[in-house]
Amino acid sequence: MIRFENVSKRYDTGQDALKQLNFHLPKGQMAFLTGHSGAGKSTLLKLIAAIETSTRGQVLVDSLNLNHLSKRRIPYLRRNIGIIFQDHNLLFDRNVFENIAIPLIISGYSDKDIKRRVQASLDKVGLLHKEKMMPLALSGGEQQRVGIARAIVNRPMLLLADEPTGNLDPKLSREVMQLFDLFNQVGVSILIASHDLDLIKTMKKPVLQLEEGCLAYNGLYIQKQREMEY
Ligand code: ADP
Repeated sequence: MIRFENVSKRYDTGQDALKQLNFHLPKGQMAFLTGHSGAGKSTLLKLIAAIETSTRGQVLVDSLNLNHLSKRRIPYLRRNIGIIFQDHNLLFDRNVFENIAIPLIISGYSDKDIKRRVQASLDKVGLLHKEKMMPLALSGGEQQRVGIARAIVNRPMLLLADEPTGNLDPKLSREVMQLFDLFNQVGVSILIASHDLDLIKTMKKPVLQLEEGCLAYNGLYIQKQREMEY
């Protein structure tokens, strides 16, 4: 689903954010991306979503080479990727339903399809009864779940999450992770950047660890080696 081949990223400031990364996240796999602040986690996710481009090497997403992706095809890529941020980026002057409908309106769905899909997404995150509420009237955990509902409303094959539990207490964090686990069980590939090592341990998924832009540990590779041994 995601393949990095000798990928480096240097920002215009001269900052080397990622150095010679190689890894492969197979289709349907869930994995975590860890590392200290400034290690390059957000940059790595931005390369996958074509928000930034690599300076060297190849980034492939579902066999699409992002180095050769024309601007015209970026919306096509993004429709297949759901992105979740720590601060969830909800619009506070729109209600829950309207916030989740945004990606579908952009994609040109009919009103009937929008209603059906938004309600299906809200149902998955357990917020069907709150569709008319304004985001500020919701708890932090509920706001984050609205962000997740918006990310899955296009039924993406890949979910990227950048510190999705950063502002949540341990119980809510676990609930959010269980939601990701459920999406993964129905075949969605998921990469979650997080520095919450205790929470990651409980999930028992492979980990990619970045240190100053280098891949210091590749649990996906180790998992593959083990599978080959058996
Ligand atoms: P993390 O998500 O692990 O905290 P980032 O990917 O945000 O790490 O940052 C990696 C490095 O790249 C840091 O040194 C950061 O300061 C730098 N960086 C991130 N975004 C930019 C940018 N837009 N311009 C210049 N440098 C950046």
